[in-house]
Amino acid sequence: MIEKQKIRPDALKKLLEIANDPYGCLADLRKKKRIIGSTLADVPEELIHAAGLHPFLILGTNDPIRHSTAMLPDNSCSLARSNLELVVGYQGAFFDGFVLSQVCDTTQHLCDIWKRKFPDHYFENFLAPRQVARPSARDWYAQECRRLRAALENYTGRKISDEDLRQSFGLYNENRSLLRRLYDIKRDVPALMTNREFFDAVKATFFMDKQEHSRLIQEVLHWADQEKHHVTEQDGYFKAIMVGIVVEPPHLYDMLDEVKGGIVGDNLCTASRYIYHDVEVEGDPAEALADRHLRKPYFTPINEDVRRIYTDLVSLYRERKAEAIFYVHIKYCESQDYDLPDIKAQMRAEGIPFLELETEYQTTHLAQMKTRLQAFCESVIRKGLS
Ligand code: SF4
Repeated sequence: MIEKQKIRPDALKKLLEIANDPYGCLADLRKKKRIIGSTLADVPEELIHAAGLHPFLILGTNDPIRHSTAMLPDNSCSLARSNLELVVGYQGAFFDGFVLSQVCDTTQHLCDIWKRKFPDHYFENFLAPRQVARPSARDWYAQECRRLRAALENYTGRKISDEDLRQSFGLYNENRSLLRRLYDIKRDVPALMTNREFFDAVKATFFMDKQEHSRLIQEVLHWADQEKHHVTEQDGYFKAIMVGIVVEPPHLYDMLDEVKGGIVGDNLCTASRYIYHDVEVEGDPAEALADRHLRKPYFTPINEDVRRIYTDLVSLYRERKAEAIFYVHIKYCESQDYDLPDIKAQMRAEGIPFLELETEYQTTHLAQMKTRLQAFCESVIRKGLS
């Protein structure tokens, strides 16, 4: 039985391979479509897809920073620094253009530098409203979508019809719904697949052709549906909530896997904040995209009510019957720096076991963090290491 549980379908192996080496695995993509890189968060990739281009989310590099130190101060977050490093030092030739989101002061400066570094590439900023409770927010976002749509049409020399957009919405909604189904199974049967496997399978969607990603996820779902009835080893897992923007380096998932922490909920930009929010296919496409933006839960620089930085977490924790919250704090992320004292105070007040993990993309010495995580699990959750 145990041997059987170790067998993974080829589709899952392929997804993990792509998640961990998208530039190597997807080199052929460039022969088929022009590649448009975007950055977190909330660039409406459906618009880029409907324009006949390939949207590709730039998610930084864990490789050493060599070039971007000369362009961004050392106390800017490693997500911004490693994104810039990736395109300037490693993978610039992969992209034909960029649509970059401005969500904080760092990304604002980053966009200016980026544009100057790539004068021969297509370039657009995308300015999502950050205070989404304002009456003007919906209109603003819809206008930004219309502006981006016109800019993409200008770049490709081809009109994007409403029908093109609806097809893209349908394709992306279907992909998200498949990922939601897989998350449900993973939640119910934590021993079926590791945290790392599930979140890597999700991560691959940000890089791949959507249809191909959905096809592979369908195969994984087929396997998971069959296999879940044979997985008997469920004991010893505790339910964890993962909070933050991204989980980097991804070895943090491995650490949680080692102590049998099964992630049952998250608010990551690279997971739930993406997969739980569809676009209405009918109606005005720009307004449908704006409505999706307003429905999303808080993300540190974008929220409707500052109290939601902790009330959303408490609700998620209770709703999923979790036993601990792990907060991935990207060092020098100003927005997270502001949120953390309030979040910690609220978690203390609610008696919720909470562990902050401060990391950088280039953090390679993870032994100390591993020890802290194991100690937390042993002493606070009284589970973990067997
Ligand atoms: S929100 Fe935080 S992590 Fe994201 S780019 Fe801004 S400072 Fe960096």
